[in-house]
Amino acid sequence: SAKAAGRSTFRLYDPAMEAAAAEQRGLELDLRLALQRGEFELHYQPIVTAAERRVVCREALVRWRHPTRGLVPPAAFIPLAEETGLIERLGAWILRRACRDAAAWTDGARVAVNVSAAQVRHGPLIAAVQSALRESGLAAERLELEITESLLIEGEAADLLLALRRLGVRIALDDFGTGYSSLSYLRRFSFDAIKIDRSFIADIADPDTAAIVRAVVGIAAQLGATITAEGIETEDQFAAVRREGCTEVQGYLFGRPVPLEGAPAEEMRIEG
Ligand code: C2E
Ligand code: MG
Ligand code: MG
Ligand code: MG
Repeated sequence: SAKAAGRSTFRLYDPAMEAAAAEQRGLELDLRLALQRGEFELHYQPIVTAAERRVVCREALVRWRHPTRGLVPPAAFIPLAEETGLIERLGAWILRRACRDAAAWTDGARVAVNVSAAQVRHGPLIAAVQSALRESGLAAERLELEITESLLIEGEAADLLLALRRLGVRIALDDFGTGYSSLSYLRRFSFDAIKIDRSFIADIADPDTAAIVRAVVGIAAQLGATITAEGIETEDQFAAVRREGCTEVQGYLFGRPVPLEGAPAEEMRIEG
């Protein structure tokens, strides 16, 4: 009966799911407009040397300054941008903006830009990198692209990484240890930096986890890659990763992602 169905936990038409779908459609419309209105901004988080806490790199982390929802984190819109293909234009804007910002830094720090697998699938990444470097005048070796294992699954990943390397940009393997075949990727591709995922750092008080970090540090050293520990929040975690030999560190302990000082309130608009 209808009464029984009402009490049942299984429903064909779930109002909560309907609402979520509508919310998603609304967000997608907003996202298209946001590109035209220039509602995106880059926040930067420092990556520092473990030895002296000197800033050697800043990671660009995109945020969406939504007119009514406030500051929207990337997890809430990057997947949508990927599904809709909007990631191509958004990604190109992020690259241009990050290179332009970094070109003005007087400390010569690198800038790290996250690149998703979908971004590679949706558009010509090489061309976007080239034009961002050309327009900004940033030296290629100051641009570091952070990729994840999901990108390495792509068929043309090897050609892509080779072409990027020819441009002179650095390649970092982000979130290392969270995928399924991390070690085999280290064998097949060469990286300038390996970023150990935050989940290992959170658990570094555990001797087994510390042993894994130590082993990864050893591998990275053999491969000539920089090893970065991400997500360091406490002095204890910092002491532990230093003990295991990590050379670069990143996390709230050293600085949260923040807008550049003196960044213009009005963001550069995205054409097209
Ligand atoms: P990610 O590249 O691994 O970036 C690190 C994330 O960890 C950032 O979250 C950062 O704010 C956060 N984080 C840094 N230090 C700490 C810490 O000490 N503790 C904790 N709990 N978190 C910390 P955010 O900015 O929300 O970005 C999340 C993810 O979204 C990024 O992970 C990256 O995969 C993606 N993303 C961010 N910006 C971009 C972008 O411009 N393009 C693309 N394609 N993806 C982006
Ligand atoms: Mg990253
Ligand atoms: Mg990361
Ligand atoms: Mg991570």
